[in-house]
Amino acid sequence: MSSTTASTASTASAIKPPIKPAKKRIAVLTSGGDAPGMNGAVRAVVRMAIHSGCEAFAVHEGYEGLVAGGDLIKKMHWEDVRGWLSRGGTLIGSARSMKFRERSGRLQAAKNMVLRGIDALVVCGGDGSLTGADLFRSEWPGLLKELVEKGELTEQQVFPYTTLNIVGLVGSIDNDMSGTDATIGCYSSLTRICDAVDDVFDTASSHQRGFVIEVMGRHCGWLALMSAISTGADWLFIPEMPPRDGWEDDMCSVITKNRERGKRRTIVIVAEGSQDRHLNKISSNAVKDLLSDRLGLDTRVTVLGHTQRGGPACAYDRWLSTLQGVEAVKAVLDVRPDSPSPVIVIRENKIERMPLMEAVQQTKDVTARIHAKDFDQAMAMRDSEFKEYYNAYLNTTTVDHPKMRLPEKKQMRIAIIHVGAPAGGMNPATRAAVGYCLTRGHKPIAIHNGFPGLCRHHDDKPIGSVREIEWLESDDWVNEGGSEIGTNRGLPGDDLETTARAFEKHKFDGLFIVGGFEAYTAASQLRKARDFYDAFKIPIVVLPATISNNVPGTEYSLGSDTCLNTLIMFCDAIRQSASSSRRRVFVVETQGGKSGYIATTAGLSIGAAAVYIPEEGINIKMLARDIEFLRSSFASDRGANRAGKIILRNETASQTYTTQVIADMIKEEAKGRFESRAAVPGHFQQGGKPSPMDRVRALRMAIKCMQHIESYAGKSRDEIAKDEYSASVIGVKGSRVLFSPMGGPGGLEFTDTDWEKRRPKHEFWLELQDLVDVLSGRKPHKEAGMLEDSHSKGKWGYESP
Ligand code: ADP
Repeated sequence: MSSTTASTASTASAIKPPIKPAKKRIAVLTSGGDAPGMNGAVRAVVRMAIHSGCEAFAVHEGYEGLVAGGDLIKKMHWEDVRGWLSRGGTLIGSARSMKFRERSGRLQAAKNMVLRGIDALVVCGGDGSLTGADLFRSEWPGLLKELVEKGELTEQQVFPYTTLNIVGLVGSIDNDMSGTDATIGCYSSLTRICDAVDDVFDTASSHQRGFVIEVMGRHCGWLALMSAISTGADWLFIPEMPPRDGWEDDMCSVITKNRERGKRRTIVIVAEGSQDRHLNKISSNAVKDLLSDRLGLDTRVTVLGHTQRGGPACAYDRWLSTLQGVEAVKAVLDVRPDSPSPVIVIRENKIERMPLMEAVQQTKDVTARIHAKDFDQAMAMRDSEFKEYYNAYLNTTTVDHPKMRLPEKKQMRIAIIHVGAPAGGMNPATRAAVGYCLTRGHKPIAIHNGFPGLCRHHDDKPIGSVREIEWLESDDWVNEGGSEIGTNRGLPGDDLETTARAFEKHKFDGLFIVGGFEAYTAASQLRKARDFYDAFKIPIVVLPATISNNVPGTEYSLGSDTCLNTLIMFCDAIRQSASSSRRRVFVVETQGGKSGYIATTAGLSIGAAAVYIPEEGINIKMLARDIEFLRSSFASDRGANRAGKIILRNETASQTYTTQVIADMIKEEAKGRFESRAAVPGHFQQGGKPSPMDRVRALRMAIKCMQHIESYAGKSRDEIAKDEYSASVIGVKGSRVLFSPMGGPGGLEFTDTDWEKRRPKHEFWLELQDLVDVLSGRKPHKEAGMLEDSHSKGKWGYESP
């Protein structure tokens, strides 16, 4: 944080009156409560602004700095934000500003901006900060007029600044803004909470204790809901959906049932703003007393407090803040004077813009609905995903819902199988599927150790490792990495005959396959074999789970977020290790098979100097250009930057230029000016416990898959086989979650699968590759003429860092 003290208005007036500067000037500020990822947003705004030919400014201490001016509004250079992605909090400071709430404060702020020639402001904060920003914009012409009337500025000075351009970024750990699925900071905060609850989980189990955990969220239960899903909490309190009257009996009965089933720990999550239907507060201590007094349970309260704000941003927040920061600058350059101020949002996997005040108003309306005790409406007004998660939590936590149970003839025997390498989220997805099946009356059946497990023989008799899953055993899988039912790369095509016999023997009515490209291949083989085996004419759904994220039909697979988090932790740590020697480049080898997704996204999240992916390959010109880039980069920072630099290389990017070869070449060519090391995290990337994002998405997707399978109940085999969607992949595509059929003329197998390279034909993330380059200052290969036969240094252009 800046320690600079606020300077007075007179200092600001002393600054030379500008004629409109040649370059557009964009300022960024962080305001309201700080959130992990704000630094990533500032870095992206600064670098993207400079890249786009603008000048960047940072306003320190939020709106306080805008009102005070002086040293609190600083010009930012490319190097000023180096290393910011991995830093927690906000390095330009945040504050709550009473002065900015007054028109007089905003008048002063307008003057400071005009004096510095700034007419575009990117604000990263919560709904309060964004409301303030919008008000500032709407008052802007009036403020300038007043400044002229009072003689503080001349007509000539204000003339070039008729409009103020505002763009909002939502930075808040609560994820309380309507219109966006996630705010910058919310997943980092969720990670902090889950880490804490995972630890409590162990001790609660050991002592058979109950724990009441209070998490942040005065008006918004997102953190509470997501942490309850991620940790398999027994009961949850959120402000939007207070429990019905008599909840004390309901909660005690659910917990007693869970205990009777053999559960050794009890976890209740309470959002700090929890209340009953009459708006009386439900405190964590009251819940604890209830459990202790009524159930005689040894219960403790843990209030997580400010640990939820701190620490570095998780992979998702680094990626989100970077992409949104870039989008904010694009919006500044696109927005017309008469269009409403935009806020940058994300829907599923798509960064979008929406009118800022629309998002703010919707957010305020939710709070108003809660105060009016109109809870159903409050829930409906949160994004649809929130309600879906809430229902999914209920359906998988308390499995005795007589109303949810299907009539017997619609109940199915649903087989669950894991195929391929383990990936974070496989176990939580299986747990969710089991919970849902039990709620609906289906039989969840585990196939152990993949297709080879199903086809296992003993004394020439097929015995198949197939077993019904019990609620209690799956309940513990909520935060477990790997695959508890066992996963295997073997494919059904290896022995279709035995596979079909096993399907018949166990009377499977549906198949849920969790895994990566092999899982996809397995589904394709079964679908094609339907012509010969009726046993495969059942609904088959693939839930992509692979760290490579290379399954056609989705932009996201379970496990990829866990992998990214592990990889950025690894990179942060080794980069830090270079702080004593300073001039060191690490060439880090990432997994990902023939897909460069993990390398590219990790590159974006850690600010890699370069990323090598199989889609582009590696050639000698690229290496020469990058060594030159490193040389010039080290020369320009004169050792001021203490951390090392990182190059990421996907394991299959080149057969010749291996990780070690690249590291050696860099060392050789650096001629002693810096050194280089190779580092291979290997299977470490598959991660330990799944990340909270993988856990919550596992739940949501697994339930959608079960509902999809269930929609075929009662249909004949031929009807099922005719329906293209009866063999499909669930996926995130742009702003939607949907099923894509595998077969048929429009099916994925035909339209979007590169079978040889084991990846989709169209990889949505490829465009991010250029962004990694833009933000590191290295010109993208294409732009840099890497394909031309030229060795002239000029043609390998890179921005002077
Ligand atoms: P958050 O942005 O996290 O919701 P606050 O509501 O505390 O946090 O707002 C942060 C700052 O934004 C306030 O201290 C104030 O300077 C400014 N602000 C908030 N609401 C308004 C408003 N209605 N008018 C002007 N400024 C506001």
